[in-house]
Amino acid sequence: MLRKSFLLVLVLFVFTVSFAQKRQVKAVAQVTVMNPMLSYSDVVSALLKKGLTEQQAYQNLAELTGTIGGRLSGSPQAARAVVWAKNLMEKLGFQHVRLQHVMVPHWVRGKIEKAWIADRRGRKNIPLAMCALGGSVATPRKGITAEVIEVHSLDEARALGAEAKGKIIFFNRRMNPTLVSTFAAYSGAVDQRDGGASAAASVGGVGALVRSMTLVVDNVPHTGVMHYQDSIPKVPTAALSTFAANRLSAELERRPRLRVHFVLDCKTLPDVKSANVIGELPGTQLPNEVVVMGGHLDSWDKGKGAHDDGAGVTQSIEALRLIKELGLKPKRTIRVVLFMNEENGSRGGKKYAAQLPVNEKAVAALESDAGGFDPRAFGVSADSSVFQKIASWASLLQPTDICSIRRGGGGEDISYLKGKASALIGLEPSNQRYFDYHHSDKDVLANVNPRELELGAVALASLAYFISEEGL
Ligand SMILES: [Zn+2]
Repeated sequence: MLRKSFLLVLVLFVFTVSFAQKRQVKAVAQVTVMNPMLSYSDVVSALLKKGLTEQQAYQNLAELTGTIGGRLSGSPQAARAVVWAKNLMEKLGFQHVRLQHVMVPHWVRGKIEKAWIADRRGRKNIPLAMCALGGSVATPRKGITAEVIEVHSLDEARALGAEAKGKIIFFNRRMNPTLVSTFAAYSGAVDQRDGGASAAASVGGVGALVRSMTLVVDNVPHTGVMHYQDSIPKVPTAALSTFAANRLSAELERRPRLRVHFVLDCKTLPDVKSANVIGELPGTQLPNEVVVMGGHLDSWDKGKGAHDDGAGVTQSIEALRLIKELGLKPKRTIRVVLFMNEENGSRGGKKYAAQLPVNEKAVAALESDAGGFDPRAFGVSADSSVFQKIASWASLLQPTDICSIRRGGGGEDISYLKGKASALIGLEPSNQRYFDYHHSDKDVLANVNPRELELGAVALASLAYFISEEGL
């Protein structure tokens, strides 16, 4: 009996001690994170550990791409994405969750997109994979059938004489493969997509076909925005897959007078009311000083907008969630802004910048809109002293895979905060694969790596937190 009692007491004692220890450990963990004296490198470690363990950016991206998918401005899917994002922010306990309404363009692809090289009798011969460029007018219902002139620049097209009249102009300059930055290669070629139609029409061309903006050769066309110049007739324009562009070019060598047929039934509808989605963690000491983190909620209708820019959307939300759930209490307000309509109008970015409250100071804006790949750098546009201050944190960011803080950078949506925010900062992940997927059917969840996506979220959270604590 005595022995039994002794054992019971012993068991109770051990249980009580271990329970107390567990409680103590838990309490220490909480205190550790909330301790204002906590070093920044401890904060980064905590963010990293929580982020890589829970990987909620990827779960949210799976939900966004899986239940809504592509979400072009003005579409029902974009409207659903607004509701989804607002609900998620509320569920996560963000504060001041709200919509900032904005009117956006509403271009619709339509159902018919076909192109082929005709045989000598004008019949369908070699199919060409293509898709309309965003903003294009439709072809006549029967399509356009015409001879083709291949060019490699807008100037070359504009210099064509009478020979261009009635022809399809085919812009086939490649993105420069010798540039290590694929963004630089894209910038060097994208004028053809943007201005090809007007350059073609300026010399009497009836349509423009443009080589897809990608460095891979495959049969997937890449869409993207184009613009018409006022006072020049609007002619239809579409992107050819790189494979189709190479094929057409090779066929033109053999048969310079060949004819191509293409048909599109896209159209532009009246503007639609949409919204930026905003939520924040108010600053505990300087709530009117604001650090913005964001990406754009709209995407193209090809693919699911996973990298562009579901990644930036889910990383920004994840960054604020990590800060909040670790019990960090930022001095300044950290705000997530999910911008609407970056792809074909930037109305959301313009609206946000135009309606900054007068009593508010925009300290910095961070944007993630370069894909959910392994983070490599932050690009910072700021004056010299601000840049130096941010650059001095480079080693603290290294655990998130950020290797450097470099001059210049930002993002389309936050570019309208130029002159208002002290620093515009772009998250720059590895860019070698971005244009393989960009604006195409390949921009899907399967091409996103959960860890790389999460590291970007942790990098954003870390830098936003440093700025909230230190100011600029
Ligand atoms: Zn984008």
